[in-house]
Amino acid sequence: MIRVDTLHRHFGGFRAVDGASLEIATGSITGLVGPNGAGKSTLFNVIAGALPPTSGHVYMDGEDITGLPPHELFHRGLLRTFQIAHEFSSMSCRENLMMVPGSQSGETLWNAWFGRGRIAEEEASLLRKADEVLDFLTISHLKDEKAGNLSGGQKKLLELGRTMMVEAKIVFLDEVGAGVNRTLLNTIGDAIKRLNEERGYTFCMIEHDMDFIGRLCDPVIVMAEGRVLAKGTIDEIKSNEEVVEAYLGT
Ligand code: ADP
Ligand code: MG
Repeated sequence: MIRVDTLHRHFGGFRAVDGASLEIATGSITGLVGPNGAGKSTLFNVIAGALPPTSGHVYMDGEDITGLPPHELFHRGLLRTFQIAHEFSSMSCRENLMMVPGSQSGETLWNAWFGRGRIAEEEASLLRKADEVLDFLTISHLKDEKAGNLSGGQKKLLELGRTMMVEAKIVFLDEVGAGVNRTLLNTIGDAIKRLNEERGYTFCMIEHDMDFIGRLCDPVIVMAEGRVLAKGTIDEIKSNEEVVEAYLGT
């Protein structure tokens, strides 16, 4: 689904991403690991259109998507999770889900004049969808809770929920499990697995917790110093000497 070809992203003279090439297969849950500063988040930012690359290319289903803005990628079904922005923290979980761009048709003048009924219908269907998502994520009881009052892990679930309000094909998750307790981590893991199996989502996830990665991801890609060092199953990665050295070296 995604092919990254010799991607560079430099900051001044510093090569945060230094010629990374990798592929993400349709239907996979691909893990991305590596020591701190390896360039993982920067790579995500370039793929997801938040940062232009210095050079190199990103392809989605064979089409060059390098440097496309996030909203364009969003329409193609390429999403990344974002932390709940400040302005959304005073809105309920349900409202947060209903606010996802692209999940509503937008109020054109035509709609405003003639489409009142349709808008009400759409709002009802959005509401149903939001409730389905909350149910799927096992946080129905939090639907009227302000997003700002959620625990770190619950916020992560809500972030994942926002990707479910639109027709996503591939979702990039940057440390969705960081700082989350075991129980919620399992809930997040289950949601990712079910989205993959039941709805055909492809995932690429950066994560530090190797158990979490091992349970969900195949293959796992290892990055170090801006490049891809290895790719394989979690067991192959763990027994790869270069990988072990890269981790010990930091
Ligand atoms: P990772 O996610 O693997 O921990 P990052 O992609 O966040 O790594 O960062 C890779 C390197 O690039 C780090 O050394 C970081 O300090 C540097 N870096 C990231 N973003 C910027 C930026 N906007 N300006 C300068 N340096 C940056
Ligand atoms: Mg990072």
